Amino acid sequence: MSGVIDVDAERARTPGCLDHVFLDSAGSSLPPRSVVDEMVAHLRREAEVGGYRAAAERSADLAALPALVGRLLGAEPETIALTDSATRAWNQFMTALPWREGDRVLISGTEYASNAIALLQRVRADGVSVEVVPSDPLGRIDLEALERALDERVRLVSVVHVPTNRGLVNPVREVVDLAHRTGALVLLDACQSIGQLAIDVADLGVDGLSATGRKWLRGPRGTGVLYVAPHLLDSLEPLAADMRGGTWSGETAYSLRPDAARFELWEYDVAARLGLGAAVAHLLDLGVAAVESAVRARAAGLRDRLRGLPGLVIHDVPESDGPGGIVAFTLAGVEAPEAKARLADAGVTVSVSHRESTRLDMAARGLAGLVRASPHYFNSDADLDTAADAVRRSGVTSR
Ligand SMILES: *Cc1c(COP(=O)(O)O)cnc(C)c1O
Repeated sequence: MSGVIDVDAERARTPGCLDHVFLDSAGSSLPPRSVVDEMVAHLRREAEVGGYRAAAERSADLAALPALVGRLLGAEPETIALTDSATRAWNQFMTALPWREGDRVLISGTEYASNAIALLQRVRADGVSVEVVPSDPLGRIDLEALERALDERVRLVSVVHVPTNRGLVNPVREVVDLAHRTGALVLLDACQSIGQLAIDVADLGVDGLSATGRKWLRGPRGTGVLYVAPHLLDSLEPLAADMRGGTWSGETAYSLRPDAARFELWEYDVAARLGLGAAVAHLLDLGVAAVESAVRARAAGLRDRLRGLPGLVIHDVPESDGPGGIVAFTLAGVEAPEAKARLADAGVTVSVSHRESTRLDMAARGLAGLVRASPHYFNSDADLDTAADAVRRSGVTSR
């Protein structure tokens, strides 16, 4: 189903959104009631009968999760692994690659800190090199520069679909087409795009994808997803599999599962995973297209209200095809953490995007930090009015 979102109904289903203005869905969103109910019920059941029996009672629902997530991504269930974060998912893929000295990795100018740190560890441990592909004037990966940088020593191109600090969308399909010409794999970080815009892994052609549950998907913390392209399933081994991904088949022998669940670990937070399922089901019910246009409209509405406020500079002006759910700004004379605190006092929840999260992009733009306001479809017009008024007062009190 895909139509127009009934904001009042979604607000009624979102207990957290009524007593303050919540604008941090790019950080950790408010879950719908169905997610909370699912998780709380499971925790109570664990307390009654123990975790094993409680999980066994939900085994059919748990087994259906890869198919549910797969529906969202246009992927087959056997290509989906469930993890405890996007970072775990990303690392499970990256560390499974057979790194050799002299291998090259290309990253984009909006690479996320955690991905960069893990790659820099590979530089030290394995003698690979990590190189940054320049950005175009809009901040996206420059395709001509990428083409020049590619050769057969490039094992991996890491690209962020939508960065954590701005509203742009990287041209993933074009990156994939170029990278595959020289045999490089493409790993897509979809943390800020999942739940905000439609993703189809077959259309994008990526070799791996990582995503988080707690942001635009409105799932619980401690949840993440890994997609591994079918052509890699029998060649990629996780760096450290356990008895979920593998079987101890003889005294000195093991075998690995044939599907992407070889990247999963045996132990996990069952309540959180059921909550993730409820969040994905809620999104599929609303329709991704309806969510995307609603997010875009809310963010545009917030930008309109903020534009022209004294001392305020909006730093992300997404290109016309961007989802733009992230409205990032600075206030003259007020550091981003101070602005966040003043807004919290006024009942408006935002977060700060620190320089260290996307160091290359922030340094290139001379930014130390940004206030990040990220409205979702459950935000009302009144929310946006309140937020803009609070921002105006946050700026003014400093003068
Ligand atoms: C939030 C975020 C991550 C990390 O997700 P976790 O689930 O916290 O590991 C990675 N990349 C981007 C672009 C993000 O915004």
